[in-house]
Amino acid sequence: MNIRENIIHIASTLPAGVRLVAVSKTKPAACIEEAYAGGQRVFGENRPQEMAAKYQVLPKDIEWHLIGQLQEKNVKYIASFVSLIHSVDSLRLLEKIDKEAAKHDRRIDCLLEFHIAEEATKSGLTLEEAEALLRSDIYPALKHVRLVGVMGIATYTDDREQIRREFRHLHDIFVHLRETYFAGEDSFKELSMGMSGDYDLAIEEGSTLVRIGTAIFGEREYHKTN
Ligand SMILES: *Cc1c(COP(=O)(O)O)cnc(C)c1O
Repeated sequence: MNIRENIIHIASTLPAGVRLVAVSKTKPAACIEEAYAGGQRVFGENRPQEMAAKYQVLPKDIEWHLIGQLQEKNVKYIASFVSLIHSVDSLRLLEKIDKEAAKHDRRIDCLLEFHIAEEATKSGLTLEEAEALLRSDIYPALKHVRLVGVMGIATYTDDREQIRREFRHLHDIFVHLRETYFAGEDSFKELSMGMSGDYDLAIEEGSTLVRIGTAIFGEREYHKTN
């Protein structure tokens, strides 16, 4: 696997307006350095402690994205430096992020994660739950978080039409929320969808952030969702 060449190749195929999140979970810092040498600056991790350890030893102009499920008790490990949290799936978690961000005098950008796959195991909100969050009295009082878009993970399947339908559904949710709750707020603009096997479809359906691991760094030791 030539990580540097993979990065350069994939980045060259992305249309304007689509950013690459290089998913480096489980991979050592040396692999991130190779990607960095290829010009990559945005990296995605799914474990807060692992991300914090890598942040310590790697260049400070890296933008760190937390893409995996986040437990409230672990927000503290990343609150001082994380650029974007893709996986907000409850008001309680958003409140916790707000609280930890306040300690560092920061405002942390976040995405609402939606459950779009057919597998019951994948996490994320329903539209109903998200709207309850947005309409709550608590949400507008949170001054140290900013919602900038939505994220979703499609079903792990060979059925490309199904994947496309799920991405289209997420796009519809994104547009609905933007028009209903974020009218006039240009910062609500991110649609995080697409991984190694399906990012071409995600881009066709409007993705602005593709999260790619395997196609850059090679296979991990375990199944892809974690
Ligand atoms: C691991 C992971 C990815 C990257 O998956 P690949 O198939 O290796 O590209 C993307 N998004 C999330 C949420 C992940 O956990």
